[in-house]
Amino acid sequence: MKLENPTPIDWKFSVRAEQLQSSVIREILKVTQRPEVISFAGGLPSPETFPVERMRAAFDKVLSENGKTALQYGPTDGYTPLRAFIADSLSTSDSQILPEQIMMVSGSQQGLDLLGKVLIDEGSNIMVETPSYLGALQAFSVYQPKFVSIEMDEHGLIPASVAAKGEGARLLYALPNFQNPTGRTLSVERRYELVETCARLRVPLIEDNPYGDLCYRGEPLPKLLNMNPGGVIYMGSFSKVLTPGIRLGYIVAPIPLIRKLEQAKQAADLHTSTLTQMAVYEVIKDGFLSEHIPTIRSFYSGQCDVMLAAMKKYFPESVSWTRPEGGMFIWVTLPKHIDSKQLLDAALAENVAFVPGAPFYADNPETNTLRLSFVTVSPERINEGIQKLGRLIQARM
Ligand code: PMP
Repeated sequence: MKLENPTPIDWKFSVRAEQLQSSVIREILKVTQRPEVISFAGGLPSPETFPVERMRAAFDKVLSENGKTALQYGPTDGYTPLRAFIADSLSTSDSQILPEQIMMVSGSQQGLDLLGKVLIDEGSNIMVETPSYLGALQAFSVYQPKFVSIEMDEHGLIPASVAAKGEGARLLYALPNFQNPTGRTLSVERRYELVETCARLRVPLIEDNPYGDLCYRGEPLPKLLNMNPGGVIYMGSFSKVLTPGIRLGYIVAPIPLIRKLEQAKQAADLHTSTLTQMAVYEVIKDGFLSEHIPTIRSFYSGQCDVMLAAMKKYFPESVSWTRPEGGMFIWVTLPKHIDSKQLLDAALAENVAFVPGAPFYADNPETNTLRLSFVTVSPERINEGIQKLGRLIQARM
């Protein structure tokens, strides 16, 4: 039975919702779905690295041996054996992390939203790197903070800038390893100084670390978490070391904060998929990641070398760029007068895509910057795309 005069609603959005915007990256990704486009735009890991067969076998095993538990509602903080495994892998000889300090989340992106929900009031000062991860700026923006931009250089964010601007801030959001978008890494010397500065200011330090395991050489650098577990909130993700489609990440924090986050997560989605958590535990419990991660590292490192060599060959001398030691991104700085948004329009006309740098800044964007991702494009197409970009930049010199 249908109404005689069906009437559509004139939507009145909340003030909060009115100020939401789509991510520029998601908008660009719509264009770059076409197969002829050489896209350095996405932040997607390479599907070549996905352990599809392992995942299939794990889901199969969990469902056949433990199906009724796997398909039932579960606890908000997550699947206990998985939390215990993560706690163990994050503990060091002088800093033990307890399973109770860990809450599983539906992708670390959800963790950013929940942290915003429980830590940010309207007008709260929150410190972010310059530039920073766009998805975090988006997640925090919903809670209407005042962003305080912290300076960076090639060794990562500058602790003295935190000391100068951090009084009374509600948090510092930091990406110490192979930062998205710049690929930069916080030097070991600065790590200690940063943690010490935040502890002195009594400002919680969020260490977002989805790329930390993807170091091309040596071992991952020491975590800020282990330097002061009472003052650091650590965020981990399975997106870059297994697959992003499973939407599984975790937050490590002091227990009183975990309790509060749990209440926020209950309201958001009750809990993260039980089946997924059990399957991931099945995949990683016997050490699979220690064989799998090195294969991702050497693949990405090779891709990165190809892009860096192509840039050296084809980019004009006045262009500069970062040389990442891990992760998925290179950050490019063009001569000041070149606007990377306009360059993108020209590049798209030649079927090449990248992300302009401006949206990664909380304020005062540097419009002559851009981010390149090198993990999903073949070496031949990296060369072709970088050559085209080089020509377009040269034409604007
Ligand atoms: N933090 C950073 C720095 C990221 O780059 C990403 C993903 N692009 C996320 C968090 C979100 O990751 P997840 O897939 O775990 O939600």
